[in-house]
Amino acid sequence: MHHILCGLAANPALSSESVDWLISIADDDIATVLAGRADLSHAQAVPLAERVHESAVQLAYEGRLLGADVDPSVRPDAALALLDRGVCRPQWARLLAADPAGERRERLAACPGLPSAVVDTLEADPDVRVVAELALWATADVASRLAAHPHAEVRRAVAGNEATPAATLSGLMTGEGLPAARRCLVCDREKTPFVHDRQCPRLDCDLPPGASCDGSHESTVHDMQQAALRNPATPIEAVISFVDHPSMLLRSALATRQDLPQQACARLAADPAPGVRADLAGNPTIDDALIRALAGDRDPDVRRKLAHHPRVPLDVLTRLARTTKIGATLLPRVAAARPAEVEELATSPDPAARMLVAHHRDLPPQIRDRLADDPDAKVVKALAAHPGLTEAQLRAMADRHGVRVLAKVATNPDAPRRCWRTWSGTNRQCGRCSVRLPGTAGQQPRRCSSAWRTDEQDPWPPTTRHSRHRSSQSCWLTRTGRWRRQQRPTRPCRLP
Ligand SMILES: [Zn+2]
Ligand SMILES: [Zn+2]
Repeated sequence: MHHILCGLAANPALSSESVDWLISIADDDIATVLAGRADLSHAQAVPLAERVHESAVQLAYEGRLLGADVDPSVRPDAALALLDRGVCRPQWARLLAADPAGERRERLAACPGLPSAVVDTLEADPDVRVVAELALWATADVASRLAAHPHAEVRRAVAGNEATPAATLSGLMTGEGLPAARRCLVCDREKTPFVHDRQCPRLDCDLPPGASCDGSHESTVHDMQQAALRNPATPIEAVISFVDHPSMLLRSALATRQDLPQQACARLAADPAPGVRADLAGNPTIDDALIRALAGDRDPDVRRKLAHHPRVPLDVLTRLARTTKIGATLLPRVAAARPAEVEELATSPDPAARMLVAHHRDLPPQIRDRLADDPDAKVVKALAAHPGLTEAQLRAMADRHGVRVLAKVATNPDAPRRCWRTWSGTNRQCGRCSVRLPGTAGQQPRRCSSAWRTDEQDPWPPTTRHSRHRSSQSCWLTRTGRWRRQQRPTRPCRLP
């Protein structure tokens, strides 16, 4: 891969002439980056697709190519991309429905707004994966029809389709009103009973790991039940009995449903599998009593999920922050806190509460300044990237808490450049953070990039990609070949 040219191709300050030049020399990698440019014009996209045929699909998805630019008999994949974007070309759909490649027919089946004649053709396709893909995206009437398909794989897809009518989904779960499925992917290929090895060594095998069939297509039926449980269109009455199902995956899927009755919630809160309780803890519809009960759960994943719950009470959240590794992030409940709640958290005697609110990036100045003087390093670390902190405050934070906060202080957008130089020289992690900041694309990152690249593979593109690299400067770097010298592994350099 041509790192420097890929970096240049992504530079938003690149002139139109330079983009034209890159198009004229583009390979696959450069074309991928160029196709993602926000300013790529239609007049540039057409020659790029001509030069690198593989880029036509991406350009079509990015909306850079029009229907008139693509011949479906020459570029069927680009035509499929345009159909997928909703470009209406019935004649293309008819042509591609007869494509000898099953993969293309499968992708066609997922396209919106297909003519009914094409839908009929795909419904009768000899490749069951094409029919299953059609079932996954079909309209209500087609999905209802396909629910009675003799192949279990097609029924599994119907169960995951949100357009499928509720009565059809209920029928799939109970089996009432539907003839039994006759085949599945397993018994299509293997003599039953058969259990597919989870570590199957065959390179040409695409059966899912652990797939099995003893004549009842059980792994496909299990997947169908899971798809229906996760489908909000499935009525709760049709799935509530899964609260006691032996499959942990099915109970987990049930625990994420937003229409779960309180009684079922209470049963799932006592589930022996921590994964089920964790999924319940993340369910936004559980009530306060259940939240408080789950806050005492012995499993850290359950408590972590609960901490990200949008309605968790603040006292519970503070307790969770004390006992659970939540990560350096602004939690949804804290992001939505009212001004009085922000004040309450910021003045709490508990450092865990102050740390939670310190992750906020829109604090009133007096609260921000008070937290900047906090005696606890984890509170200061959480606050360090808050905009509006003065140089004196940032220096005081770094002086008081040292390496515990330095890397975060360096990510503050208001930290003066001379601070970065000092901190980068004393702390490697700090230097790595500051080099990624906007506004540091000048002298300092360029000097230290060679030092890091030697052992950490910090590539060039992040530096060259920066908008502060003027296009003329980037061109100069490329054309003079200076980048080659800088790409050579060198001894770590000293920062100023
Ligand atoms: Zn296999
Ligand atoms: Zn089977």
